[in-house]
Amino acid sequence: MAKICITWVAVLAIAALAAHAQTAQPATHHWAIVVHGGAETEAAYRASMKQATEAGAKVLDSGGSSLDAIEATIHVLEDDPLFNAGRGAVFTAEGKNELDAAIMDGSNLKAGAVAGVTRTRHPISLARAVMDKSPHVMLVGAGADSFAASVGLEQVDPSYFFTERRWQSLVRQLKKEGRPIPPRPAGAPPAPPAPVAEIEPPDAHKYGTVGVVALDRQGNIAAGTSTGGTQAKQWGRVGDSPIIGAGTYASNQSCAVSATGTGEYFIRLGVAREICNLVYFKGMPLQQAADQVIHKELDAIHGDGGIIAITPDGQLAWSFNTPGMYRAKLSEGGKLEIGIYNDEP
Ligand code: ASP
Repeated sequence: MAKICITWVAVLAIAALAAHAQTAQPATHHWAIVVHGGAETEAAYRASMKQATEAGAKVLDSGGSSLDAIEATIHVLEDDPLFNAGRGAVFTAEGKNELDAAIMDGSNLKAGAVAGVTRTRHPISLARAVMDKSPHVMLVGAGADSFAASVGLEQVDPSYFFTERRWQSLVRQLKKEGRPIPPRPAGAPPAPPAPVAEIEPPDAHKYGTVGVVALDRQGNIAAGTSTGGTQAKQWGRVGDSPIIGAGTYASNQSCAVSATGTGEYFIRLGVAREICNLVYFKGMPLQQAADQVIHKELDAIHGDGGIIAITPDGQLAWSFNTPGMYRAKLSEGGKLEIGIYNDEP
């Protein structure tokens, strides 16, 4: 199997405008089943993506807002140790989990973002609180966590985010690069006698961000992204995920986008906003705009990663220049589609 760069983005795209009543199909087909054993990890990731997407779909199906759907979906992924967001986030070179997140409301261009938080269980909810309950757009570090506590968001010991698999992955990377290994974090469980199985391809640690774009029955779109950033990051590094216009953007005038990949390139290109600008100023169909930015502009500067996107008229798109991007989509009345590799639809 080709090495895949796992880039975690759950696309939750509920196209209410494209709704159609489901009618019983005449029995013209014989049923069939195809099963692939796959790696255990792959099955586990697919199951999680399904659960998360369905959590968001439930919100939208009951008439909830795209913002609420995004929060509900990302909570599932932040709580799941498989993903590089919330619990299960990658470690910094100093052995910490520093979390970034952003959310944007396409109906009014309000946005909230946080970077480098270490104590808030759900960074996406903190981003939402920054948007809804503060006069600011972006808060960082300890100040962001204390704002979270002040608005009643659940606070946890930093060791809550620890997972053995990510820790060992950090140690492997630092050893390989000849960099110092930090002490095992306070509060982490004792080291197991044998290394835990590597359940992701070697490059997976570079990605893992989760993101959602959604369209609700009111016709409003929104985008949200949550991440632990890149493994072994240093010096308070912040990627594109919490940067409005780079890793996260939404406007009902054009589109909503959430990105994953090596953030430095996405920041330099302003990827999310760039895609929406092509839709807005050039009238490009969403998929064409997404492909133009990912396969031409991002490729041109040797950046790697991908995006998911949605428009208020129900166009859904994803585009990535990595060998794979875990992804799922579901429209009202439609079927859940989950993909991993780039040869899947
Ligand atoms: N874009 C994220 C960052 O650079 C990483 C990722 O997508 O996994 O922080």
